[in-house]
Amino acid sequence: MHLPLSRAIAPHLHLLDEVGSTNAELVARASSGEAQDFTVVVTTNQTAGRGRLDRVWVAPPERTIAVSVLLSLPDLPLEKVGWMPLLAGLAMTRAVASLVDPPRVSLKWPNDVQVDGLKVSGLLTELLVSPRAVVIGAGLNLTMTAEELPTPAATSLTLVGADATDIVDRALAAYLGELRQLSDAYRGSGFDPEAGLRDQVVRVCGTIGQQVRVELPDGSMLRGVAEGIDSVGRLLVRDDSGVQPVAAGDVTHLRYE
Ligand code: ATP
Repeated sequence: MHLPLSRAIAPHLHLLDEVGSTNAELVARASSGEAQDFTVVVTTNQTAGRGRLDRVWVAPPERTIAVSVLLSLPDLPLEKVGWMPLLAGLAMTRAVASLVDPPRVSLKWPNDVQVDGLKVSGLLTELLVSPRAVVIGAGLNLTMTAEELPTPAATSLTLVGADATDIVDRALAAYLGELRQLSDAYRGSGFDPEAGLRDQVVRVCGTIGQQVRVELPDGSMLRGVAEGIDSVGRLLVRDDSGVQPVAAGDVTHLRYE
């Protein structure tokens, strides 16, 4: 596989036949100095993918892509790190929308992309402290059949009508192009989400306006209406006692009710 469209956007692209986890692989390469800004590790055969909180990410061979991108961000203030998963989610939402009917595609805060309310992609961002960088991992279901889906809440691009021709390169290039443009703009703004990123995320975020149930790590439950996203990327949920900000790292599950 040559991936000409994707390589044109990301010259430091490493296509692996098989890997346990693209995120783990790229973190290891970055730690040993073998990766630079916008180095990409991608495979269609990720054998040990993980979601948040070490949950299993299911990926039958040749049916999905797992892609990880290193963004070297030495000036990124720590309090702005919370926007990076949302920026990546926005990039994936736009990429998916370029391949299927756009109004059907939305971002489920903080890290899922859905088509018709079903998960087609999940993202996982890891922070590297020194030198500061983030590794943004994404799994994207390309051609999984209905029988191959891990849960009834999942879907794949071809199941929602995308053309399967050259789908690996087309989907990857669409995502990398959006990620490059959004990350360049965010850097260019001095990491100011008010310079456009917040509005763009809010526009595609299907969570806002929903009645949600948030499971917190201590087992307690927050129920309310998701009203917006605050300046550090937290979801604002209004319940009887007021507006509660919820950080992605503090959410065990978020469900729409
Ligand atoms: P929740 O939706 O419960 O809040 P989450 O979206 O944050 O969880 P992650 O940890 O990001 O969940 O992803 C892991 C979950 O995604 C798994 O528990 C499983 O339900 C689901 N999943 C696993 N593989 C896939 C896949 N290929 N496509 C869609 N969903 C998947």
